[in-house]
Amino acid sequence: MSRPVADIGPGLGQTRLAIILPSLLCNYDCPYCRIKAKTRQRGEHTLAAWRDALIGIGAPLVHIAGGEPTVLKGFAEFVLGYPAPLRMTTNLWRAPDRWPPGVWARFEYVTLSFHPDHTDFDAFAARAARLLALFHRREDQRPRLACTIVADPRWIDALPDWIERLTALGLDARAQYLNRPVGDAGSTYTAADLARLRALGVPMSSDAAGQEAHADNGAKMCDAGMAYCHIDPRGNAHRCSRDPLWLGNLFDGSFDWLDGPRRCETACTEACDRTFARFTPLETDS
Ligand code: SF4
Ligand code: SF4
Repeated sequence: MSRPVADIGPGLGQTRLAIILPSLLCNYDCPYCRIKAKTRQRGEHTLAAWRDALIGIGAPLVHIAGGEPTVLKGFAEFVLGYPAPLRMTTNLWRAPDRWPPGVWARFEYVTLSFHPDHTDFDAFAARAARLLALFHRREDQRPRLACTIVADPRWIDALPDWIERLTALGLDARAQYLNRPVGDAGSTYTAADLARLRALGVPMSSDAAGQEAHADNGAKMCDAGMAYCHIDPRGNAHRCSRDPLWLGNLFDGSFDWLDGPRRCETACTEACDRTFARFTPLETDS
């Protein structure tokens, strides 16, 4: 049994979560990725500055995303020095036992993402097995480990075997729809691809493909921003990954959580928004 994962929410006793993107820098170049860069961008901050600024807003639980966060200078020092639990999404490019002792135990939840354009399956699975082995006889200190594979049409047919083998290792393995916001003209699936994927019945990380509009995507009252936010590489915080409502900047002292739900007209498609936000569809006059 892995260590417990905190509930995220605005109620008493529930935890606040900041999803941070300190940089879009990544050592991979996945063709389906919309959030990657080969150089650090102007205005990005060091991880030491992120640590101090996050402590300044009360040290929320932090999910480090990117880009690939483990390529950033000072990554291990940030992880070992941050005073609250952490979460992370990583492509697991580096052997897990090459990090300093204690790094992995600082995380309550880690999503390992497998990208077949950059690593073969057996090498990725071997690294995942080494990560699990670090917690042999210390299961109660192991982060909960999920694994996602983007269900690119090029490898749809390999997904059942990959997911079965990762699940057998002890990972919560899922495929993930190619995910573009509603209205984005970028290519995702043909109707035939989507039907083929669904016919396989592999576990998916969300129930609707990104190109599909959810039935409740009209006006809503949503609590995103009260206990959950996204912070971009320059420190600008928004209440979720899709809606532009600004919560201030982490680095200039203007950041604040919302004090109640707010109206939202944004189409809500990303899996993480639907995981952490609670919203109520509003009746409209149209
Ligand atoms: S590893 Fe992740 S962040 Fe990097 S290019 Fe691939 S999908 Fe994008
Ligand atoms: S309804 Fe969806 S898009 Fe709107 S604020 Fe909430 S999570 Fe974000």
